Amino acid sequence: MTRLIDGVLACHDPVGEWAPVVFDSPHSGIDYPADFRFICDFPSLRQAEDTYVGELFAAAPSHGAHFLEALFPRSYIDTNRAIDDLDQGLMNAPWPDPLQPSEKTHVGMGLVRRLCKPGMPMYDRLLSPEEVRHRIDRYYRPYHAALDELMNAVYARFRMAVLINCHSMPSVINGMAASGGLVDADFVLGDRDGTTAGRDLVQAVEDALRGLGYAVKRNDPYKGVELVRRHGNPANGRHALQIEINRKLYMDEVTLAKSTGFDALSRALDGLCATICAFASERARIT
Ligand SMILES: [Zn+2]
Repeated sequence: MTRLIDGVLACHDPVGEWAPVVFDSPHSGIDYPADFRFICDFPSLRQAEDTYVGELFAAAPSHGAHFLEALFPRSYIDTNRAIDDLDQGLMNAPWPDPLQPSEKTHVGMGLVRRLCKPGMPMYDRLLSPEEVRHRIDRYYRPYHAALDELMNAVYARFRMAVLINCHSMPSVINGMAASGGLVDADFVLGDRDGTTAGRDLVQAVEDALRGLGYAVKRNDPYKGVELVRRHGNPANGRHALQIEINRKLYMDEVTLAKSTGFDALSRALDGLCATICAFASERARIT
C-alpha cells in the first residue's frame, strides 16, 4: 500500500515480510509548488534534483523494506538540512527562532537555497518568514515525521533499523556541494566518516556494489548530511547510510532524459536492495 500526501510525499509499505530496512529518496521530487516563484531558468533549477532516484529504488518494498519518497523538489526546501540551517539574509523580516547557518547556507545551499548554482540567484525578492514557515510546516516536517515513524516502527519490531538514504550526484561537481571536479566513482557511500552506520553494513553494501562491477568510494566527496546524522546511532542499533549514484550511469545530465543505462542500473539496484534487506534481516536475527 502507498500512503500519499499530495505533492509532499509517498510512503510505500513493504510487500510481504518486513525487513528492518527503510529506504528514502528526499531529492527526487518534481512537483514544483505554485508559490515557489523562482527566477532562475527551469533547466538549471532542475539540475538540483536527484531525478529518477525514487524510480530507481522502486523495487525496495518487494524485498521487505519501507520506502519513502519526497514529491516536492529539494530546491524549494531541503529535508537534508537542519531546520535552523537557514539564511536570515533571504528573508524580509527577522526569523523568530535561533538560527545556526552552516557552511551549506554560506554557499547558498541551506534549508532554503539562495543560489540555483554558483552566480545564479534563485529569487529576485526576499522571502517572508511566513512563506518559509509554510515550506517547513507543509513539506519539511511531514517528511521528517514520516521517516521518524517508519524508523521507529521498524525498530520497535526488530530492535534494529537501517536507513538507506538515496541520492544521485552529477558526474562533474560545480563547486557548491563539495570541492569541484570530475567524480570518478560510480557510487559514493556516506556514513559521516564511519559514525552513522555499522562498519559491517557499509562493507556489505560496498562489496555488493563492487561485485556488480561498480567503482565505489566512501565519504569522498559526500559524507551524508542531516538525514543520516539524525537517524544513525549504530551503538543503539540504528544505522543510516547515504548512497550517491553517479548520474552518468542512467541519464543525460543536460536534458534529464533516461539513458540506455537506466534499465541495467535498475536491475542492479534491485539486487542491491535484496542484498541489504537480507543482510539486515540476518543481523536482526542474530542480535
Ligand atoms: Zn540528494
